[in-house]
Amino acid sequence: MSQLIDGKRISQQIKDELKEEMKKLDALGKSVCLAVIQVGDDPASTVYVRNKKKACAYVGIRSRAYELPEETTEEELIRLVKELNADAGVNGILVQLPLPSHIDEDRIIRTISPDKDVDGFHPVSVGRLWIGEKGFLSCTPAGIIQLLKRSGIGIAGKECVIVGRSNIVGKPMAALLLRENGTVTVTHSRTVDLKEVTKRADILIVAMGRKKFITSEYVKEGAVVIDVGMHREDDGHLCGDVDFADVEPHTAAITPVPGGVGPMTIAMLMDNCVETVRTQEE
Ligand code: NAP
Repeated sequence: MSQLIDGKRISQQIKDELKEEMKKLDALGKSVCLAVIQVGDDPASTVYVRNKKKACAYVGIRSRAYELPEETTEEELIRLVKELNADAGVNGILVQLPLPSHIDEDRIIRTISPDKDVDGFHPVSVGRLWIGEKGFLSCTPAGIIQLLKRSGIGIAGKECVIVGRSNIVGKPMAALLLRENGTVTVTHSRTVDLKEVTKRADILIVAMGRKKFITSEYVKEGAVVIDVGMHREDDGHLCGDVDFADVEPHTAAITPVPGGVGPMTIAMLMDNCVETVRTQEE
């Protein structure tokens, strides 16, 4: 029978550990403050920002919310980020993406100080990850590593195949799996014979943004399957990039959607926030 990888339970465990760590840091007079900036009122972003603030309150991290109108200019946003970079009372800065189309996201990400880059998107954080230096890890892939480790799934020596090469999931996932001594293959929309490659995977990580695309034909018998995708079905239910009902009987372990990778992203964001004071300790 396949093991269901429970992201809800594991993310709660991580938040509880961080809460304990924050209590100890608090006793030493150390606190953590996350600045969360949202531009406009995209409903999905509003939900994400609300969940991040809730997680901060649970763990014992202070949060400051900056809710800016849709018409905010790139220069105004740059000015605010620079102010927060210079503010010693702020440890982490998060700009909720996507930004309105008149603002250059890459320019904003590059303006955030690498020392406060808790999303791990700054080129300095990305470079540190690839050369194996300590730094902020991109939250979703870091959460997947935790899901695997805390479910007792070894990575070293395994054939790991990633479907998708985005900057926020696929590429940092490859770096993290390499760091854990996996043998890594990254596939994308130009991969010839995707099935042939995914069927080699002991660990298959799917982040392609295609509803229920991965069926049992893509999966080796007994593989571990991690589904990053997030979609809404016509009946309102959530589903992933993997056709769960079809694939699950053929796996050794699999993540559900919802309740798999999703909850891990915020837990790892909290970990990056606490990391800002762990680094100070050193
Ligand atoms: P993205 O930026 O759209 O990238 C999708 C990747 O999949 C691209 O590299 C693309 O290849 C590849 N791809 C698309 N169709 C393919 C095909 N037929 N065969 C092989 N590769 C294909 O997506 P993303 O931001 O990484 O997100 C992926 C999914 O994860 C989305 O459903 C998103 O909502 C979800 N997500 C969830 C979380 C979470 O916390 N749970 C976090 C982030 C994202 P090319 O590069 O060649 O175009």
